[in-house]
Amino acid sequence: MQFAELVRLYKNLEGTTKKLEKTKILAGFYRDCGDDLYKAVVLSMGTVYQKGEQELGVAGEMVKRIIGKVTGNNDKDVVETFKKTGDLGLTAEYLMKHRKQKPLARKDLSVDMVFDNLRKLPDISGSGSQEKKIDLVGELLSSSTPEESIYIVRITLGQMRTGVAAGLVRDAIASAFNQEKKEIEHMFNLLGDYGLVAERAKTGKLKTEIHIGRPINVMLAERGGSDVKAAIETFKNAAVEKKYDGFRTEIHKNGNEIKVFSRRLEDVTRQFPDIVKMAQNSIKAKKCIIDGETLAVNSKGKPMPFQHLSRRIQRKYDIEKTVKEIPIQVNLFDVIYLEGENCMNLPLRERWLMLKKIVKETENFKLAEHLETNDVKEAEKFYQNALRAGEEGIIVKNMDAHYQPGRRVGFWLKVKPIMEPLDLIVTGAEWGEGKRANWFSSVLLACRNGSKLLETGKMASGFTEDQLEELTKKLKGLIVETHGKEVKVKPEVVIEIGYEEIQESSKYPSGYALRFPRLLRLREEEKTVKDIDTVQTIKKLYDMQRGRKK
Ligand code: AMP
Repeated sequence: MQFAELVRLYKNLEGTTKKLEKTKILAGFYRDCGDDLYKAVVLSMGTVYQKGEQELGVAGEMVKRIIGKVTGNNDKDVVETFKKTGDLGLTAEYLMKHRKQKPLARKDLSVDMVFDNLRKLPDISGSGSQEKKIDLVGELLSSSTPEESIYIVRITLGQMRTGVAAGLVRDAIASAFNQEKKEIEHMFNLLGDYGLVAERAKTGKLKTEIHIGRPINVMLAERGGSDVKAAIETFKNAAVEKKYDGFRTEIHKNGNEIKVFSRRLEDVTRQFPDIVKMAQNSIKAKKCIIDGETLAVNSKGKPMPFQHLSRRIQRKYDIEKTVKEIPIQVNLFDVIYLEGENCMNLPLRERWLMLKKIVKETENFKLAEHLETNDVKEAEKFYQNALRAGEEGIIVKNMDAHYQPGRRVGFWLKVKPIMEPLDLIVTGAEWGEGKRANWFSSVLLACRNGSKLLETGKMASGFTEDQLEELTKKLKGLIVETHGKEVKVKPEVVIEIGYEEIQESSKYPSGYALRFPRLLRLREEEKTVKDIDTVQTIKKLYDMQRGRKK
């Protein structure tokens, strides 16, 4: 299939905002795809990997270089065009139309070539990797028509705006191949890949068998507020479990062969040889898929902040060294498949008993702390103990519920303390890119130590467009210094910030940073720099968090 056919699809999708219309367009396209169905479905979503599975690792700056190289323009020309169009896809189109270097002969761009070149990107690392990436994307641009180049750039950057969300693809596959939407969704939860789902739907092979070694979307929890009593009373038969703050770990065992997957269904087996060993030694079943959460721990077995774990996940070399430096602890809480049987439709009560039977616990490979109770006092005590042990909170589970992959259906509720908002002051900001070049895209926040201001992190998302516009208006008049895209501003704008957690951080002078900060409101009418929160308050909140101190 030629890439031009996909471009036609993208254009058609852009031509309507109506969901039903988009579904119809997609369904027709899938029906006519022939043997290229897999790649066509994935590319129709504006990606070559399913969402979240892999980052292509190509940023805007690199794409500008590639556009310049292919079209024979220097950096300045590319930046000038970008300023006018506000979009790198349109920049590529314009410069391709006015190309200074015409290629001798242009190959037609095929879907295979686009798919294969882009899929190579995440695996490129080490010296010379930039040049290799530039060559792969450059080859695609060289073979593109101006119109095709728009989409090559957008797919590479993960910035397709054709409005094709997962729900739409599900409906389109169902309609294209006359299947039930529910079946398609169920298949997706098992396979995690709409390309594969479409292939199955086309041939009618929608039987939901589970394959060991192929990741399954895990079950998710819903917010349950901070009231243990209310959460417990939601279920006739409840259990409370510690909520470990680590990374979701799906372990597949087939004889001696172990695979480990993350919540995003990435294969992380290589990064965790210790999990492989523990699973081989501690799981008594021959074939199973079990579910849990992995924590980084210190030598005394106490949980460590998430940053340690993320070093383990991202590590590509010297893995054995990091295994020793950052020990882990796996806390298991579910079983999805056991000795040839799909366990998803069994109630949690039975799954938990099965899990207990097949795991020989050790200090670092164990069952999650789990208490079956509907007694509010007992559950409250469990909650306080979990916080004191340094966990984020608890998960309240319905013991009668089945395992629902990939969805938040309210069978699991997370309960954790609500953090008090902080008043902080804006001391700097950074201009956005492209269409957002006239807006700030992030702000730097500070707290106070006496009369001194100490920065405590950046907020780059967590505001609405309206809030961003208002902030930009306020901050523009306060700029005192500019360094490239970054500015320093007079400390006058006080904002109230909500967040999930305070973390220790050596990156900022205050020694603390906020996890998932979000803007609650601008407070400059009521508050000035004298009224903002102090580093001592942040320290106090940090100490109280997770029951570090009462
Ligand atoms: P959140 O990521 O805030 O939606 O919280 C839900 C996540 O908590 C789950 O997806 C798991 O990764 C994690 N988690 C930690 N402990 C447990 C537990 N005992 N049961 C289920 N999920 C848990």
